[in-house]
Amino acid sequence: MAGSYVSTTNPCRMCRPMGACLAFRGIENAIVLLHGSQGCSTYMRRYISSHFNEPVDIASSSLSEKNAVYGGEANLKQGIRNVAARYSPAVLGVATTCLTETIGDDVPRIIASLLKEEPALKDTAIIPVSTPSYSGSHMDGFNDACVAIIDKLASPGEKTGAINLFPGFVSPADVRHLKEIMADFEAPALVLPDFSRTLDGGLNGSYSRLPAGGVSAEAVAGMTGSAFSIEFNVTGPAGQSAARLLEKKYDVYGERLPLPIGIRNCDQFFQTLGDMALRPVPGKYQEERARLLDAMVDAHKYLLGKKAVVYGDADFVLGLTSFLTDVGISVAVAASGGGEEFQDRIREAAAAAETPPVVLTETDFDEIGAQARQAGAELLIGSSKGNHIARELDIPLLRLGFPIHDRIGAQRILHVGYRGAMNLLDLLTNTLIAREQETLAGGYGYSYM
Ligand code: SF4
Repeated sequence: MAGSYVSTTNPCRMCRPMGACLAFRGIENAIVLLHGSQGCSTYMRRYISSHFNEPVDIASSSLSEKNAVYGGEANLKQGIRNVAARYSPAVLGVATTCLTETIGDDVPRIIASLLKEEPALKDTAIIPVSTPSYSGSHMDGFNDACVAIIDKLASPGEKTGAINLFPGFVSPADVRHLKEIMADFEAPALVLPDFSRTLDGGLNGSYSRLPAGGVSAEAVAGMTGSAFSIEFNVTGPAGQSAARLLEKKYDVYGERLPLPIGIRNCDQFFQTLGDMALRPVPGKYQEERARLLDAMVDAHKYLLGKKAVVYGDADFVLGLTSFLTDVGISVAVAASGGGEEFQDRIREAAAAAETPPVVLTETDFDEIGAQARQAGAELLIGSSKGNHIARELDIPLLRLGFPIHDRIGAQRILHVGYRGAMNLLDLLTNTLIAREQETLAGGYGYSYM
């Protein structure tokens, strides 16, 4: 149709199987094999390594043109044999790619056939995930993998009273802090996925192909005995909810909450956790909340009414929109490459704002740039992929989200909890102060402060 928008240029999302690779990284002694061409796994290794500054092994069934015609069964079987022999993983995720979805390889059938040929492979939990990247985003792949992991590993067992936590795609620092919060509530937590160590490890003199850390397959199996689940995933479809699957199959009550970014979402999380664990909010967090409120008052004069554009993963952008609205920033544009309920949720999160944000779903960076220009944005917030827009508009870019490959420390950025909100508040405010100072005729001035 003449004049309508028909193409995507530089989409605001990553490839679907990449999300599956990230989720499997949070399982102890696990590795992913991508059923596709080598280029897919090279691209994903490159992206994940540059963001987390960690080596990441992703295997490939290494398909060629011939396999595109005759199918990739032999390659997949050989690939699984090789990976099992070299890594001895407890869990082996097999994620499909555009090519194998297009040619229609039946991965579950191929795995079943291989297990008949190689009974010794039964000791490895081989988990197929369908991740066609021509539909959906890396977050779809992430959630698909969490559901597939629960589907394969969870099994009926004793009631334990533990709490299942599905943190979503947050930073390793976030996962560590969430575990600290659960421990402070004296709530034994099972976290899926837990990449707090596997994607932010230490230097201890020896290199292990599969890094230490992650939730074990046995612990995932025992999630069926937990008292309840909390899942930070409100924009994904119901079919991509690990908590819903546990509820449906094993009657474990699940609560889906927005990511606890910003004071409102944190209050909701702490309240829910307290109600379910039957414990008051520990004094330590009440103090953190009070300090955050004080800091919000201090920062208000620098932030009020500033126009920001925020983009990235749907649940992450939703959390940031809530936080930015809390602190007085006007979210002019909220953009994501996915998210089923994104639009309505963003409007709710920014309901207190004078002007509702323009919400872009399934969008790309051309559109984000155009909308940012039209809105007169003063700040961009999102991954490194928006850098060219910031340069063109001559506004600062606060790098948050995934991927951040032109700065270090992405794995250590704390977003969640009152402590995370304080961290974001400092980063945000100092970014805007720095820009003001750069453009002041007289440079830095005490009076400005
Ligand atoms: S978009 Fe498709 S072809 Fe490209 S890396 Fe991802 S799975 Fe491979």
